Amino acid sequence: PGPQLPHDPSKKNLVILGSGWGATSLLNSLEAEDYNVFVISPRNYFLFTPLLPSVATGTLSPRSIIQPTRYVTRHMKRQVTVIEASATDVDPINQTVTFAGKYFQNTSEVQGLVSSTTMKYDYLVYAVGAETQTFNIPGVRENACFMKELDDAEKMQRRFLDCVESAAFPGQSKEEVDRLLHMVVVGGGPTGVELSGELHDFLEDDLRSWYPELADSIKITLVEALPSVLPMFSKQLIDYTESTFKAAKIEIMTKTMVKEIKEKSVVLQMPDRTVAEVPCGMVVWAAGNTLRQVTRDLMAKLPAEQTNRRGISVDESLRMNGAQGVFAIGDCTATSYAPTAQVAAQEGAYLARVFRQLARRDRLAEELDDARRVPDDSAERKAKVEGLERQVAKVEKIRPFKYSHQGSLAYIGSDKAIADLPFFSSGNLATAGVATYLFWRSAYLSKLFSLRNRALVATDWIKVKIFGRDVSRE
Ligand code: FAD
Ligand code: NAD
Repeated sequence: PGPQLPHDPSKKNLVILGSGWGATSLLNSLEAEDYNVFVISPRNYFLFTPLLPSVATGTLSPRSIIQPTRYVTRHMKRQVTVIEASATDVDPINQTVTFAGKYFQNTSEVQGLVSSTTMKYDYLVYAVGAETQTFNIPGVRENACFMKELDDAEKMQRRFLDCVESAAFPGQSKEEVDRLLHMVVVGGGPTGVELSGELHDFLEDDLRSWYPELADSIKITLVEALPSVLPMFSKQLIDYTESTFKAAKIEIMTKTMVKEIKEKSVVLQMPDRTVAEVPCGMVVWAAGNTLRQVTRDLMAKLPAEQTNRRGISVDESLRMNGAQGVFAIGDCTATSYAPTAQVAAQEGAYLARVFRQLARRDRLAEELDDARRVPDDSAERKAKVEGLERQVAKVEKIRPFKYSHQGSLAYIGSDKAIADLPFFSSGNLATAGVATYLFWRSAYLSKLFSLRNRALVATDWIKVKIFGRDVSRE
């Protein structure tokens, strides 16, 4: 890329919080020369979440599904400042955001937050996503693995291999081997289902060859509090998933609630309300999302307008109700749409169009001011002013955001996927099986934002097909 224009003090400051689906989709279409753009996120990369369960089971390497944010911003016409930091406070009255960088000391563990800075924004795009919901259930944070960030997937993979290697240690009792090899996944939403399917593939494709003596002792249980898994999919796809899991020997326990997670067991409330303590080696917690503290704090500053406990309320143009210059997108908002990547990405792309329009409006308003200031009473000047006034009024109106659902897709293991696809204007096409799996693969490859990531993911898939997954423990 050639040299970029520097920041221009006469332009407005556009601050984007986050580098996930919403923020990255905005950056991909944003015309940055109109603004001084700052991206603030504790992650200096975009994470392609749909393929995270594949990293957890070693099908894909972690680096294949992330893209540094600077890969996007370096191609923009004007310089975009990327800051690796977390927003700790947003003041919607004075239009400022405070953020703090991470502090590492000879370790990869974050030691704390340092160098807190406050900056002013003209526009703020609030796209910080959500965090894992634990419902304050005892032992979840201490003893379970999450499935939200790249770290989580890497930790889960290590934990899984720990269990397998410990079970392979000579002289273990059968009881202990069974415990170590019992993998419990909590949450029958798409994350829990996809992860269970991927765990099963790992077992069938690789562990059976590398640890033949253990393969038959491995057990996967999926626990769901509601009466069925995948409530967002159509009934026939739920049935298909349940029968595929049954054939794969993945046990689904519905109407069963996790009450506590201990170091070596999980406490379940069964459908008949009795309580059972089940020994296990690993628990993966995929029980949904909740708001981040910084979002709760921001909402608390606008108590009259922000009353929805699910998230930030926005108007039809995604402006945060009650806040001047703030747009909110993705999982941190409460809208009529599901908290998905598909929604966040469309919202981000929509905001890029909004910012283009706002920049055009500002340019026209400036031209209008200049034209009005000219001391000239000629008909020509009057016509110019009226023409500009009409144009300003036209760009003033922003078209509301409209979501277009492209369908729901999920991988369920055993080379099978399920898909609910919109069919013409009102119908729905539900498909499942191996062909759908090939569709899943090609759809996800095409959704990866960069050619580089597509090449890395495709190479990983080929490597695993030829050589199997790597079972060495780092
Ligand atoms: P995110 O993508 O989570 O991005 C939030 C960003 O904000 C991150 O960069 C984060 O680091 C940053 N951030 C956090 N705190 C701060 C702070 N204080 N200040 C500044 N920045 C901050 N959806 C689908 O549609 N299809 C799928 O197949 C699918 N699969 C999924 C699989 C998994 C395992 C998971 C966990 C989710 C999946 N989803 C899927 C859901 C999808 O990932 C989310 O809906 C989507 O990420 C929401 O986008 P977002 O931009 O709101 O948040
Ligand atoms: P989710 O909220 O969809 O599912 C969590 C499940 O955990 C719920 O069904 C809930 O009943 C259950 N649960 C909660 N507490 C429990 C407990 N104590 N014991 C037992 N079960 C409990 O969460 P998710 O699967 O992480 O999905 C989050 C969002 O991301 C959703 O909008 C989803 O559509 C989207 N997503 C989509 C895909 C896809 O399209 N392939 C994949 C992953 C995620």
